[in-house]
Amino acid sequence: MAGRQAGPFLGGRVRRTFGAVTVGCVQGDITSQDDIEAVVNAANPRLESGGGVAGAIHRAAGPGLAEEARPLAPIEPGEAVITGAHGLPNRYVVHTLGPVYGQDRPEAELLAGCYRNSLALAEENGLESIAFPAISTGIFGYPIEEAAHVALGTIKEEADSLEHVRLVRFVLFGEGDLEAHERVLSELE
Ligand code: ADP
Repeated sequence: MAGRQAGPFLGGRVRRTFGAVTVGCVQGDITSQDDIEAVVNAANPRLESGGGVAGAIHRAAGPGLAEEARPLAPIEPGEAVITGAHGLPNRYVVHTLGPVYGQDRPEAELLAGCYRNSLALAEENGLESIAFPAISTGIFGYPIEEAAHVALGTIKEEADSLEHVRLVRFVLFGEGDLEAHERVLSELE
């Protein structure tokens, strides 16, 4: 386990362990997480391709992803569903719909639901590793630091109840987003 984590985490400066669960942050692309079993899609309600994360995931996965996901749509803010990963280098894609900041309320609770429900699907499928983008912080406008508090706080709260998931990775696109997550992660009580 330690050996497998060493490579991908070299770029990340902050890593924390909550019980048996390691949480780390890296700067990168959610579609290039070859060593992770499930990657999370910041989905739209119809589970279609789009901008940001959803566009990148659907482009990398190919049209089979949208075909498999179509019968599972629409989803509500905070909900998550799981499909195969098709052309992505992972086993599964978890699709979750984040809240639109200032519109879907209570937004912190809905965002926490995205992380909780995604973890629950990973557990149901016996997965050891999952990678998240910063859900809702792009087109949906959630301020990055506020979102990082909700995201990382939720992982910490859930960690003790996880029986399969041992590695949670946050994949941040920008250097500033990585720094915000690392700051919040290092300061979590
Ligand atoms: P939402 O609609 O939930 O706000 P977005 O896809 O617009 O989702 O953006 C969520 C976050 O993911 C933003 O911080 C954005 O910069 C980042 N992002 C965009 N593309 C990628 C990618 N390929 N890998 C990782 N993060 C990405």
